[in-house]
Amino acid sequence: MQKQLFIAFEGIDGSGKSTQVKLLTEKLIAAGHKVYSTFEPTDSPIGSLIRNIFKGRMSADHKTIAALNVADRLDHLHNEINGLLRKKEEGFTIITDRYYFSSYAYHGVHVDIDWVIAANALSAAIMKPDINIFIDVAPEVSMNRLNSTRGTIELYETLENLQQVRNKFLEAFDKLKGAENVVFVNGNQTVLAIAEDVWNAIKKL
Ligand code: ADP
Repeated sequence: MQKQLFIAFEGIDGSGKSTQVKLLTEKLIAAGHKVYSTFEPTDSPIGSLIRNIFKGRMSADHKTIAALNVADRLDHLHNEINGLLRKKEEGFTIITDRYYFSSYAYHGVHVDIDWVIAANALSAAIMKPDINIFIDVAPEVSMNRLNSTRGTIELYETLENLQQVRNKFLEAFDKLKGAENVVFVNGNQTVLAIAEDVWNAIKKL
């Protein structure tokens, strides 16, 4: 196995990304890798601003939210203390729960998707994932999971929006085929079956 990978998990809310990030992190650590697992929006001040918008504590238009995500991602990469560039230098395999494809999909519903892709060009040039794992789940399934596990539903978490977001993910993958390594995993399966598919995709690298 290649020593140091940069792995991005993508998918709609409730697709099981954070569950799979945790399982893959444990497996890679058990296999002797140094692993840094992380997520976007981050827990930095910029990421917190985005979360406040998601929770309805403040409002902003979709272009502003898209731009905040660009800034949060650049800080995620460049932060001097825990930035991904630094983690990479330190020899970590990096696993992130969401990266720029999430921006293309979520903001592409409201803003021109090509603008969102262009706005994220710096991040794509700085650190491109070795693999983008798309956990593809039916929006109905993810909505059921969210409704049964979360007390409050955030911005974006409606069935209609998740259907649109899934379509935008597919559009973005199509637009960038050839430029990005994207692997689809069937997210309607059990946690362990998904983990096995993820592991098989990682093993190939
Ligand atoms: P995400 O990070 O993509 O929003 P989570 O990993 O937080 O998704 O999963 C959302 C909810 O669904 C959690 O309660 C989790 O335990 C549950 N879950 C995750 N994967 C599956 C699965 N394959 N089958 C059933 N429930 C799942």
